[in-house]
Amino acid sequence: MTASGGCECGAFRYEIDGAPKAVIVCHCTHCQRQSGSAFGMSMVLAANQFQLLHGVLKSFSRQADSGSTINCYFCPECGNRIYNQKTGGESVVILKPGTLDNPKAITPSRQLWTSEKQNWIELSDLVAFEYQPG
Ligand SMILES: [Zn+2]
Ligand SMILES: [Zn+2]
Repeated sequence: MTASGGCECGAFRYEIDGAPKAVIVCHCTHCQRQSGSAFGMSMVLAANQFQLLHGVLKSFSRQADSGSTINCYFCPECGNRIYNQKTGGESVVILKPGTLDNPKAITPSRQLWTSEKQNWIELSDLVAFEYQPG
């Protein structure tokens, strides 16, 4: 599969090649704040599956609860988060799949941090973890 995507203003565009390793729904409070919504989604890709078409991203870093450093890449024009990458884990891109042109092609494989999910959400068909599985 080849799929394209980009930020909200269109300054940044990318393409991905091949199937993702995983698509994860995350209910943690970081993801809720980042998305400004009910949960976050992550599509785990090998870095060589992610192809820049045009645009330049800015990044900032935050400390995850696990102790690792997460580098968060976003469009400096519109602020749209595109992907995250762990320091020391540059072979993997954790894409925000809501930025794909055809998000209907996404099938999540599991959900994390249901202990922090908003009360109205019921994703009962999806494998669930209360926290981040080790
Ligand atoms: Zn943009
Ligand atoms: Zn999260």
